[in-house]
Amino acid sequence: MGTILQGTCSGCGYHAELYTGGGQQDCNPETALKVSRNNPQLAAALKENAWFRIDRRTAICNHCHKFVAAENIIYQHRDGRGRKITGVCPDCGGPLLVWPSESTEGIPCPVCGQPVSLTAAGVWD
Ligand SMILES: [Zn+2]
Ligand SMILES: [Zn+2]
Repeated sequence: MGTILQGTCSGCGYHAELYTGGGQQDCNPETALKVSRNNPQLAAALKENAWFRIDRRTAICNHCHKFVAAENIIYQHRDGRGRKITGVCPDCGGPLLVWPSESTEGIPCPVCGQPVSLTAAGVWD
């Protein structure tokens, strides 16, 4: 089950809603493939029933000036080596700045830079 995070910037009024964590469909290899945009290495690993996990993390796209739930995929090949596919911005395809802390308070607003607190507004699955 994932967490829905919500927050509004007191400086500029920018409002964001993020689906973080993971949902029920995230156990399906099809979901992982879709999220990875059909990454061929992941596809090969999934064919061998590789272990995987989708982890949606709070992130910022500095290009689109918005908060994004980065869709990271962690998976393991048969050889035991762990791999990670880092999520990109769904709008521009660019790299995301994943918020490094578990705390979702005081994240700089992607529009004006004021600290924004994202709070749990519910769950999703
Ligand atoms: Zn702002
Ligand atoms: Zn973007």
